[in-house]
Amino acid sequence: MEINFKKKFGQNFLTDTNLLISIAKDSLVNKDTTVLEIGAGAGALTLVLAKTAKKVVSFEIDKELLPVLSQNLKDMDNVELVFGDFLKFTDEQILKKTGADFIVVANLPYYITSPLISRFLSGKLHPKSLTIMVQKEVADRICASPKTKDYGVLSIMVQLVADAKVVRQVSRKMFTPQPNVDSSIVKIDTKKTIQNYEQIVNFVKLCFLARRKTLVNNLSKQYTKQQINQAFTALNISLSTRAEELNPQQFINLYDFLIK
Ligand code: SAM
Repeated sequence: MEINFKKKFGQNFLTDTNLLISIAKDSLVNKDTTVLEIGAGAGALTLVLAKTAKKVVSFEIDKELLPVLSQNLKDMDNVELVFGDFLKFTDEQILKKTGADFIVVANLPYYITSPLISRFLSGKLHPKSLTIMVQKEVADRICASPKTKDYGVLSIMVQLVADAKVVRQVSRKMFTPQPNVDSSIVKIDTKKTIQNYEQIVNFVKLCFLARRKTLVNNLSKQYTKQQINQAFTALNISLSTRAEELNPQQFINLYDFLIK
């Protein structure tokens, strides 16, 4: 069946069965797992996941893919396809389909990588893990350590509540059509929820407002000199520190101190 690939939806499909099987293995899917996939595409990853999982719920924005998906998934009775923009569904609508206990496995549409990750880490949706294909540079940012050039808001947004590591590099040649970037599979294991997650992420954004400036400088947009001095003294942070030098827990400590 011929596919009219749509760039605006980030349609770069996978076909290599070995790679698809490896991604499923990376996710640790098993017969008791419910998988949520964002972007079924032609159903290649969906099919491999469905062969192992208890259930796969797969969202796809492009209704024109229905014929090819029906054909490719015709033998599977544990796949629920949902057509529409994933980001427009409410948490309740999604949880009704997946139940509370699920994992995310997806070759993500890259234009919505950040909103998707933030949705999974901030709200009521709380997957046990996310095994996701993202642009290589984004993977490096997600997993970066403090004091490196890749460390920033995205790294902290993830590492505040999860452990993240790059588990696989994927060349651009593995996709059809071939994109002009390489990719990585990142495994994000959620480990906790924190109160005020969104407020803390906004606070981290303030800390990184001007990356080259000191934390004191960025924080002074919102806090008084006295508040900042007190917090830095109490938490043993030097006044010349830049945001990229703090680890995720230090951002939480600083936030907690400053809002008191
Ligand atoms: N899973 C398939 C594969 O690995 O070959 C396709 C992956 S492709 C990178 C991303 C898919 O996400 C496309 O099929 C695209 O149409 C779909 N998509 C893009 N934006 C979406 C959205 N907001 N909600 C649901 N699906 C979306």
